[in-house]
Amino acid sequence: LMIFLFSLILPFFLFLILSLSRRPLPSEGAFQKAKEGRKNPPAEEPQAAQPQVFPQITFEDVAGLDEVKEELWEIIDFLKDPQRYEKMGAKLPRGVLFYGPPGTGKTLLAKAAAQEASASFHFASGSEFVEKYVGVGAKRVRNLFEKARREGPSIIFIDEIDAIGARRTNESNNEKDQTLNQLLVEMDGFQPNETVIVMAATNRLDLLDEALIRPGRFDRQIYMGNPDLKVREEILSVHFRNKPVDGSVALKSIARRTPGMSGAHLASIANEAAILAVRFHKRSIGEKEIDMAIEKVLAGPEHKRCVISPREREKIAFHEAGHALVSKFFGHESVPKVSIISRGRALGYTMQVPREDRYLITATELKDKIQVLFGGRAAESLIYNELSSGAKDDLKKANQLAREMVCQLGMSSLGNIVYEAGDLKENAAVENEIRRIIDDCYEGALGILKNNFQTLSDIARRLMEQETLLEEELDQIIGKRKISPPSPA
Ligand code: ATP
Repeated sequence: LMIFLFSLILPFFLFLILSLSRRPLPSEGAFQKAKEGRKNPPAEEPQAAQPQVFPQITFEDVAGLDEVKEELWEIIDFLKDPQRYEKMGAKLPRGVLFYGPPGTGKTLLAKAAAQEASASFHFASGSEFVEKYVGVGAKRVRNLFEKARREGPSIIFIDEIDAIGARRTNESNNEKDQTLNQLLVEMDGFQPNETVIVMAATNRLDLLDEALIRPGRFDRQIYMGNPDLKVREEILSVHFRNKPVDGSVALKSIARRTPGMSGAHLASIANEAAILAVRFHKRSIGEKEIDMAIEKVLAGPEHKRCVISPREREKIAFHEAGHALVSKFFGHESVPKVSIISRGRALGYTMQVPREDRYLITATELKDKIQVLFGGRAAESLIYNELSSGAKDDLKKANQLAREMVCQLGMSSLGNIVYEAGDLKENAAVENEIRRIIDDCYEGALGILKNNFQTLSDIARRLMEQETLLEEELDQIIGKRKISPPSPA
């Protein structure tokens, strides 16, 4: 069982969680081929990556991000006409670092900038430079820059720069250090008339070596966050541009239902909706396809044929009813759907959508979130007096949030101290604080369910009857009975 929370939390908070799960990016060219199937160090280094041919993407295809585009226009102008800058004695930054959660358009923007500047685009992923043999990564960096310099106006884009640019530690890693040093050397060695710009992207700015982000190297750093309501609508209009859509479909309403989602999520919703319309033999995309696409992107594909025993089905129903009831009690987010149809890895799910874009979250709201996460397990324990494996993801998320509160956000009795991963080994005080938050939240969730036992049972029963409940149906079941708070300890 799993609950899908896709609220927007503090941008840096999202970072930590999202950046744990990186989507692999396409990596082409000789770097990749050179790695495949080779066990021994290469006698001769292969050619650097060929500039790759991408569909023509311009700034028109990148929605929103107006300020970022404005910054990049200067660079594009320089690539087109370097003499103007030279005559004025102006030095333009050679390194632009995009940082932010995955899927927010970092790669897209770099490609578009290359297209706008009629420059060649050289894509490389940081992980392609990570090699076992000392000197191989460094040589690849050298080749990449040599090639770009030969090509004339060029943009080198290094995705996942943290794979080579992570802070150096005392434990020396010769190969990694040499690769990073080579990158620094290349960036320091630009001649004024050279029209090569290096762009890089990371989800973890905090991991990068200071040397890399000091002036003269990646000194222009641009944050790319998840889009707000207006930009979500613009991104949707880019991706629905060439798709026939029913007149009744309003992109604004899709944008309202997708806070916290990235550009990549929205692109995927548009594509999934189009695929569904084809599957249903429709002439255009309607609300139904869009609803289904949002759910699919959020929670994975449905597994309707998954055979589940009646006893397990009942457990799943109580688990999801627990999440839904605790969420309704706090009311911070809407609960558009609760379902016991399995999807992706989840056996059931409770969809929660923030009521508006949020950039800050309070300590109380964070604790409420943890209680919602515990709603499923608490319901199982209350009804069956036994725990199941179904709360694994919920527990993981609850623990991550509690740890974040104590170690990063100064939201515990330990005060405004930040604890880095390295400080944490056997730090009993930190562990105690995390445990206290976790235990209090679990007790809180259990208390809400105990005091609203009848409502919990009614929701679970209806879920077993009809598999899916919409928010109106949930509200009907709760009806005039208010959800009572837990009894004081
Ligand atoms: P990662 O950090 O995972 O490398 P990224 O930030 O580089 O991600 P992109 O690869 O640029 O993300 O974006 C993925 C896809 O999302 C794009 O190909 C595009 O379809 C869509 N997308 C993201 N942002 C935008 C945007 N502002 N306008 C239009 N489409 C967007």
